[in-house]
Amino acid sequence: MPIATVNPANGETLRTYEAMDAEEIERRLQLAEATFRTYRTSSFADRARLLNRAAELLDDAQQDIAKVMTTEMGKPVKQARAEAAKCAKAMRWYAEHAESLLADEEPAAYDVKDSGASRALVRYRPLGPVLAVMPWNFPLWQVVRFAAPALMAGNVGLLKHASNVPQTALFLEDLFHQAGFTQGCFQTLLVGSGAVDEILRDDRVKAATLTGSEPAGRAVAATAGDMVKKTVLELGGSDPYIVMPSADVDRAAEIAVTARVQNNGQSCIAAKRFIVHTDVYDRFAERFVEGMKALKVGDPQEEDTEVGPLASEQGRTDLEELVDDARRSGASVLCGGQRPDGPGWYYPPTVVADVNREMRIHREETFGPVATLYRAADLDEAVLIANDSAFGLSSNVWTRDEAEVDRFVRDLEAGGVYVNGMTASHPAFPFGGVKRSGYGRELSGHGIREFCNITTVWHG
Ligand code: NAP
Repeated sequence: MPIATVNPANGETLRTYEAMDAEEIERRLQLAEATFRTYRTSSFADRARLLNRAAELLDDAQQDIAKVMTTEMGKPVKQARAEAAKCAKAMRWYAEHAESLLADEEPAAYDVKDSGASRALVRYRPLGPVLAVMPWNFPLWQVVRFAAPALMAGNVGLLKHASNVPQTALFLEDLFHQAGFTQGCFQTLLVGSGAVDEILRDDRVKAATLTGSEPAGRAVAATAGDMVKKTVLELGGSDPYIVMPSADVDRAAEIAVTARVQNNGQSCIAAKRFIVHTDVYDRFAERFVEGMKALKVGDPQEEDTEVGPLASEQGRTDLEELVDDARRSGASVLCGGQRPDGPGWYYPPTVVADVNREMRIHREETFGPVATLYRAADLDEAVLIANDSAFGLSSNVWTRDEAEVDRFVRDLEAGGVYVNGMTASHPAFPFGGVKRSGYGRELSGHGIREFCNITTVWHG
């Protein structure tokens, strides 16, 4: 894939970039290593000052970078501004909390004594340069939710961003530098995915985090495994959204629309499979389809656009194939399901019902504004359908019955259970999945500790 900005709203190539050559990569790896040696000794207060400054600069640049993101990957510009604001918030959150999240831990006095120590503690020390392989769908957020904790922990970052968001990738490098971080603290490597293996094998790179598809995750984890390096993987999702009879069904249907089409439907934590109790199925389906039909699809740079184009032509083709396959196999398309004529990689908000487990659309991730609808006879069947997926990122349940909530929290195979609402990440809560959605966690204390050397200090 060329490294280029191609506008998904019209398919026009606006700018192409040469990939960095071996010499430039070597220079950057050297710089990362050299910078880490001193940066690791900096105080939390100094790191926090720089990160707070980066948040200020990002707030100032919000309008401009939002337009760039929208141009590069097609998200509605209003959502792009919200993404930038969320990044600044996460930076401030880690600037404020990192020191306490990484404070020395003291084991219980009786355990210290039992080990024969006069005193003992656990200290979180940084690992070194961490490679971040990132996707285009939230081109600022995916990077910042890695970079903010990594920098606060004393690590330095090397970003290999998706090839279709090079301007956003370069903006991020510049942002951290302008904020006062020395150049080697956060560097962008403008390279294609073919260069990742060699970079990850380099001894100077201590660990890797990847957000993206399962094949990319498998490739990076295989190399990292071969080199015995720590990885965190945030991969795909096919999150269930379960609606039970006691729920506020109209509200559930209204939020379902946003949960499905946020970011033009290209979100790992978007609700994708809507599993509705048979008693409220018809009402939910009617409201949900109404809501999906009412969305304003169009130019993502327009303020009132709710759904823009998909980020790539291939992405639209993949999505279209899933819908066509389902239709051929007997599913009903309740709205959408037909690509529009004209330029740009648009696909309409679509609801597919009468889905069975043999269909590709049931098993694979629909990365675009396409929802599948299932009827469940009871809670047990809802859980069965929900867990009948290779993925396990997050989940959503709508019910006012506490006993049902307990069952869902006990039984849903996912890294999150969001009750009477939609999944959204927040710096204070761990984020990540189980099964083929990956492993490890980002955000919160769990996220910042992923790339730390958890060191036992024992005194005789
Ligand atoms: P992708 O094709 O896997 O790309 C993600 C990143 O991995 C890009 O930087 C890409 O580089 C790189 N890459 C691709 N193949 C690679 C390989 N074999 N070795 C090393 N690096 C490789 O994914 P995408 O299409 O951009 O993003 C969509 C996927 O990301 C969806 O499945 C979505 O659910 C998932 N996602 C997950 C989360 C989460 O937190 N769990 C969040 C957002 C998205 P190039 O661009 O140069 O190919």
